[in-house]
Amino acid sequence: MNRVNAKVYRKIGRNPWERLPAFTWPGCYTLVYYAKDYSEFCAKCAENSDTNERIIDVDVYWEGDPLECAHCGCKIESSYGPVEEEAAQ
Ligand SMILES: [Zn+2]
Repeated sequence: MNRVNAKVYRKIGRNPWERLPAFTWPGCYTLVYYAKDYSEFCAKCAENSDTNERIIDVDVYWEGDPLECAHCGCKIESSYGPVEEEAAQ
């Protein structure tokens, strides 16, 4: 059984037999995969059958501190890096 929701494939424009990308193309923005409890997964773990979590959503991670994959613990860097404090006007 495919653990990855069909909606995820639709959202990233891939077919279920294709690999899950870690980045968007074009643009090369970071993709983060979400399980039902909204824990975050890297692309590798999202398609890895060791994780019993069902992947229900995917989104571009635009900016902020790196996320930690709930399965392998790897850092998922945001597309634009950590949010910097805005300079005083
Ligand atoms: Zn991972």
